[in-house]
Amino acid sequence: MYPVPGLQKRYSMPAAHPLSPEVIEFAMRRALTLAERGPADNENPQVGCVILDAAGTTVSEGWHKGAGTPHAEAMALALLPADVDPHALTAVVTLEPCNHTGRTGPCARALLDHGIGQVAFGLADPGAASSGGGDTLRAAGVPVTGGILADEVRAFLAPWLQRQGGEARG
Ligand SMILES: [Zn+2]
Repeated sequence: MYPVPGLQKRYSMPAAHPLSPEVIEFAMRRALTLAERGPADNENPQVGCVILDAAGTTVSEGWHKGAGTPHAEAMALALLPADVDPHALTAVVTLEPCNHTGRTGPCARALLDHGIGQVAFGLADPGAASSGGGDTLRAAGVPVTGGILADEVRAFLAPWLQRQGGEARG
């Protein structure tokens, strides 16, 4: 186990989480930069994902290129090196991993299927159908921390959130 008093204090991070708040926030800013690569006018939100190993080193990255294409998490999972221990990995995602089966399958399920050790996300998914991914992961025993730089993510996604009227899609 790893001591993480700082992160626990700021985000109620599970005690087993090996990464400091600074590392998580740095990865979240990177994920936001990745999210910007996606189309800003799409029906789906711009989302970025960075997967870190236990040392805080980035092992994979992904972003969403628009409706009908893999979600950011799915892209990052697909690009994971073969030689990493998934249980030692932390997925840092700008938006809560989706929980519903849209055109591409739920990311919460994909993260579980890959055995990802921990998840940190920024903004909670506002969609009635797609929200709850964090709870799905938690119920499966994966430590999840939400709200990382949530204000920055919310500001970034403001146009999309406005278009949604609070309803996210797949
Ligand atoms: Zn998803």
